[in-house]
Amino acid sequence: MKPFFFSLRPTRQFKVAIPSNPRLYSLTPFFEPTAGAMKNFSDTVRDSADITRVVSDYVSLKGSGNSLKGLCPFHTEKTPSFTVHRDKQFFFCHGCKVGGDVFKFVMLAERVTFPEAVRIVAEKSGIPMPAQIGIVDEKTDQRRQLLDLHEKAASYFRRMISSDEAAAAREVLHKRKINAEFAERFGLGYAPHAGLLDYLSPRDPVSSGLFVKNDRGEVFDRFRRRLMFPIWNDRGKVIAFGGRALGDVQPKYLNSAESALYTKSYVLYGLHLARGSAQKAGRIVMVEGYFDCLSLHQAGIENVVASCGTSLTTHQVALAARYVPEVVMNYDPDAAGQTAMRKSIELLLAKNLRVRILKLPQGLDPDDFVRQEGAETYGRLLQAAPYFWQYLLAESGRNFDLNDPAMKGAAVRDVLEFVGKIQDAVERLEVARAVAEAFKVPEPLVLERLKLSSRRPELAPVSRQTVAAASRKLLEAEKQLILALVQKNKSVAEAIQPIRNDEFWREVWSWPVVTRLLDAEGDMEKALSDLADEQLAGEVRAAVSDDPGTMTAEYAMSSIYKLYDEHLKKRQSEIQQQLQGYGAEGAPRDLLVSLSEILSVRNRIRKGVPNS
Ligand SMILES: [Zn+2]
Repeated sequence: MKPFFFSLRPTRQFKVAIPSNPRLYSLTPFFEPTAGAMKNFSDTVRDSADITRVVSDYVSLKGSGNSLKGLCPFHTEKTPSFTVHRDKQFFFCHGCKVGGDVFKFVMLAERVTFPEAVRIVAEKSGIPMPAQIGIVDEKTDQRRQLLDLHEKAASYFRRMISSDEAAAAREVLHKRKINAEFAERFGLGYAPHAGLLDYLSPRDPVSSGLFVKNDRGEVFDRFRRRLMFPIWNDRGKVIAFGGRALGDVQPKYLNSAESALYTKSYVLYGLHLARGSAQKAGRIVMVEGYFDCLSLHQAGIENVVASCGTSLTTHQVALAARYVPEVVMNYDPDAAGQTAMRKSIELLLAKNLRVRILKLPQGLDPDDFVRQEGAETYGRLLQAAPYFWQYLLAESGRNFDLNDPAMKGAAVRDVLEFVGKIQDAVERLEVARAVAEAFKVPEPLVLERLKLSSRRPELAPVSRQTVAAASRKLLEAEKQLILALVQKNKSVAEAIQPIRNDEFWREVWSWPVVTRLLDAEGDMEKALSDLADEQLAGEVRAAVSDDPGTMTAEYAMSSIYKLYDEHLKKRQSEIQQQLQGYGAEGAPRDLLVSLSEILSVRNRIRKGVPNS
């Protein structure tokens, strides 16, 4: 065993004393761009995009300077551990360990492929897409054609609303007091008895969700004589339509069939219009219908979206949770609306959202109410909307005779069933106390009930995995070395180059990152882009995200010594173990020599390394 590291040069002047070896510099870099327009283009986009601006479209970020914080869109949390770094252009969540560059973020947030993410970021950053770029895979191409088709359909419907045939549709808007500006903003239109098919003549009409085929194979417009609402994705692109019947036709509301663009349960109607003010307000108001949403926006209450269905779906809840910590449910006061609302509470609580309930007086839905009573009254009720449990308490007083012991028992059970779904243990306990107080039931009894009725909050499979695998940590020394390289400390990089093939690095967990950082000249996301060890990537992002300040060359060099010392320590204990097998006399000489060599080198490291 030979202490190769120290055979290179004595300590101290290490960083200047070692001549750099040109042969090592000529090693093939890991990031030789694979020739191709796509790679060039994605690099251009990556270099020109600002990750903080792109992420802000999805997450409300707080703070200033180079690192901004927000609530992680990829796991549920109450205190922000999601960080975006402007200077190093990456994001990292300390909670769920997800991280990466701007493309990775968009891929996760939008559930799209890499080429699609590049396209989205380019679009958001105002970088025109060269026509010859071959980043269109088949799926992307299909989606784009469908988006085009919907754009054309939307403009066709809009135009048709001024046609003679559309008088009944205009009458509805007039009755609902929808003014021209908002009809325009929400893209309202009219589907005539026929015409869209001829107008668009699409290649594959049925798969667009806008047409139907009968038994004889004839294709028709799906929407006929209906008032049309475009449905957008959260980037404001039309992906489907909802059509309201005029007159006594069933169904009253008809939606596009699901398509490559449109999955009903994934959409919150009006989200792209509501997002900004919802993030500002820290809450989103959830209503049932298109007109509820539209009328509230017109009244100046803009943090409103519609679920356009009965109860919320988990996907819709997840979508809302990306932007706000609180949801106000303002469903219709009829039985169907109230049942749907109760079902939604559970889903919202499971996503760790605060839930308030707004039940409007006189049995009015939001659309009627705001038209009759005005925006100010609505706004006042909205501000005063009770938390879900306060609302349930009030309701139970109405629905149960609390003087009847059996009824009271049922009422308590009814409320506690929801309280048990609150994710935060402290909050759950506090609410349980308030419930006990309200029902005038001894507190321990309520807490006991709660224990029985509340299942433990379910961990997502992903986070369970993270917890199990989280055992491996970077050594302080590894972190310091990585920081120095990410901070583009040239003298550290130059000092490692000549010794980068030394054996001891193989024992350093983060070596694959160190060596990639050398090749990528300190660009962290580039260095991590082809790294298979996700956990290592997470640890590296965490370390860089925690950035304790500028790493001096001296400090970083001492880290290398420490890593080397770790290696020696291991050898030492191996040898000592071997020696134990020989007893006092018969130990082989070469083992003893190796041991004494190791000890002397370790001794020199201890003396030579600052801060150790
Ligand atoms: Zn997270």
